[in-house]
Amino acid sequence: MRVEAQASPQSRNEALFARAQGVLAGGVSSPVRSFRAVGGTPRFIGRASGAHLTDEDGHTYIDFVLSWGAVILGHAHPAVVSAIKAAAERGTTYGAATEAEVALAEAIQKDMRSLELLRFVNSGTEAAMSALRVARGFTGRDLVVMFEGCYHGHADPFLTKAGSGVAAAGLPKSAGVPAGAARDTIVLPFNDEAALERAFKETRGGIAAAIVEPIPANMGVVLPRPGFLERLREVCEEHDSLLIFDEVVTGYRVGRGGAQGRLRIEPDLTCLGKVVGGGLPAAAFGGRREVMENLAPLGPVYQAGTLAGNPLVMAAGLATLRALTPAAYEQLDAAAARLENALKGSAAAAGVPLTTARAGGMVGAHLRSGLVENFADARATDLDGYRRLFHALLGRGIYFPPSPLEALFVSLAHGASAMAKTDRAAADAFATLGRRVG
Ligand code: PMP
Repeated sequence: MRVEAQASPQSRNEALFARAQGVLAGGVSSPVRSFRAVGGTPRFIGRASGAHLTDEDGHTYIDFVLSWGAVILGHAHPAVVSAIKAAAERGTTYGAATEAEVALAEAIQKDMRSLELLRFVNSGTEAAMSALRVARGFTGRDLVVMFEGCYHGHADPFLTKAGSGVAAAGLPKSAGVPAGAARDTIVLPFNDEAALERAFKETRGGIAAAIVEPIPANMGVVLPRPGFLERLREVCEEHDSLLIFDEVVTGYRVGRGGAQGRLRIEPDLTCLGKVVGGGLPAAAFGGRREVMENLAPLGPVYQAGTLAGNPLVMAAGLATLRALTPAAYEQLDAAAARLENALKGSAAAAGVPLTTARAGGMVGAHLRSGLVENFADARATDLDGYRRLFHALLGRGIYFPPSPLEALFVSLAHGASAMAKTDRAAADAFATLGRRVG
């Protein structure tokens, strides 16, 4: 019997999602894009300009995701586009050394002095994975400390959840991660100095490194308590362990010198990504010369990449960093403050509990009252409320992250009219969530 073809989907987004699911696992190239966390059909983006995304149905949204923080100048910034075009005309990849890599590395080093030597890679995952390998090679130790709610990409040692005791072996957080890879990771609560001290003491000199997002942006935005990172720095020194700052998000986002410049704490190693590639796939890791000199070809720690330091990517990164003047950071701060105020004001007017946090050009918004200092606090937000808020905003032309517990990002293209539209949309969207009193 012939089965009738399904009625044609009403929208191109829907049609594309149906087609995508036939060829891409889950229809996407990265899970969060599937909208699983918020429900509904993911928007397939056809073009973007400045603060705006346009989907395949022709709907335009003000974008507060910005490729998860990468697009700090705004989409299709003319300086970035022309730098990429000019580089492409000279060849897209050589697999050989170029001047652009040297120039971008020099620019980064000027901004973050702790990166005495660095290396380019293609993703934040690679940066964190490689930084840990060089730390292990340098110290001759295996254990790594990380903090619950921080994200360091999807390499095995970081896909770990906490074991039962403070310094207990971690457990795999994903299928396919061998117990052995998780066993060397100790997962601690963020902002908890006592847990930190206990873990270092109990493991007696076994810890190669502690890795941390100095201002976590993967459980919403959570600010470090005064003294916490300073104590982490001290404890690492006391135990001859290295401190790795994962600044994949915060690098160039919370200021030209990253979180380390803002907080005046010098890590041994740093991971960068996102902004550093100007919206193309670049990341980097680097730090103290004597540590980085363990990398091949100088030392015994192996790490390599066919497309690492790609000339298009380096050109986009350089053009981006050139535009990040002190005035640009003032503008980013102002846009982020305006977003934070819009959310706070709208939530208050609607009687919806909301706790916000802001650092430079990023904002965190948790649908709960009270302080959010760690993952347990972050998780105790109204996750269903976020789903409703997300769709209420999307329907009003505002694109927030399709998952709760993500940071909101602004760009230099988020000017007065975009922010005025956001103010109105936020007020209306929160009103739909508001409790009706009386
Ligand atoms: N570190 C941090 C702090 C991140 O936020 C991310 C990704 N959002 C990564 C590492 C991994 O980067 P990528 O997705 O480029 O592998």
